[in-house]
Amino acid sequence: MAQLVAAEWRRRGARVTILRQKQRGDHVRAELWLGTGRPKGQILVLGHLDTVYPLGTLGKMPFRVSRGRAWGPGTFDMKAGLVIALAAVDALKSSGLRPRKRLVFFWNSDEEIDSKSSRHFIEREALRSDAVLVLEPAYGPNGRLKTARKGVGTAEIVVTGRAAHAGLNPEAGVNAVHELALQTERLMKMNDPRHGITVQVTVTSGGTVSNVVPDSARAQVDLRISKIADAARLERKLRNLRPILQGARVHVTGGINRPPLERTRAVRDLFLRAKALMREIGVTLDECFAGGGSDGNFTGALGIPTLDGLGAVGDGAHSPREHVIIRSLPERAALLAGLLATL
Ligand SMILES: [Zn+2]
Repeated sequence: MAQLVAAEWRRRGARVTILRQKQRGDHVRAELWLGTGRPKGQILVLGHLDTVYPLGTLGKMPFRVSRGRAWGPGTFDMKAGLVIALAAVDALKSSGLRPRKRLVFFWNSDEEIDSKSSRHFIEREALRSDAVLVLEPAYGPNGRLKTARKGVGTAEIVVTGRAAHAGLNPEAGVNAVHELALQTERLMKMNDPRHGITVQVTVTSGGTVSNVVPDSARAQVDLRISKIADAARLERKLRNLRPILQGARVHVTGGINRPPLERTRAVRDLFLRAKALMREIGVTLDECFAGGGSDGNFTGALGIPTLDGLGAVGDGAHSPREHVIIRSLPERAALLAGLLATL
């Protein structure tokens, strides 16, 4: 993917760097100056090359075009976004519009698995930028932009008990699954939907065979917050979980790994600019608050105005129904080109 995308950007005259990775796929940075004289700042455009499907998915779920939609794994989230960026640059070039700022496009390979190897590149680039535009999928059939996103994290709770024969001497054991169930109840009480805090125990496991009191159990916990200030408080609550059954031990790791993207005044102004551009071509553009996180969360947390959901209109991300609406693509490319030309 990195090679394919890099070739497209080289063809458009961009200065392309492939950032080779050992543990993850390579990342691509493409820099383009379409103005005259010296650039007055920088705009960063973000997208990702990876998707969530296992190898071989294309066999069952091939790319196809039908009924005005392009179907296939990763079409919506977010290969279409990569295409929109290329089309936007083509539009700028053919119309002779001259952006005032240097354009940097950063395509990472590990967004779907926490951006561990790309986060520092993204943050470094964001700190040099005046705005960040993220080509993640739009929300809903009318292509809403995402002006706020929840912060996301994962915790793991590991419970240790003591094994014993379930029939002969259960009193000698400490049931780790029972302890985990009690802790699950506590964790679920941390939900505070009014303040945008959600805590969900998701994957659980424990025990070995049916006639042994289990000596271990574990659970993964999905964490979401709306305000950065809630991260430390929630993490402290998790760390402070103490065992309930006598003899049990509880160990919690993890926490929030993507801060929330908050709708600051600068984010709102970026959105209003996008809305005005779409009005010029007769399209009404709205905004929304998204539960999921993206790399825009990192750049927003640094205080750099970040506008997300600028990618394709479609549906079914991460599912067999994944598709984009083809006629939305030129509109979204026009929107991106407009932002790049006027910011
Ligand atoms: Zn995505």
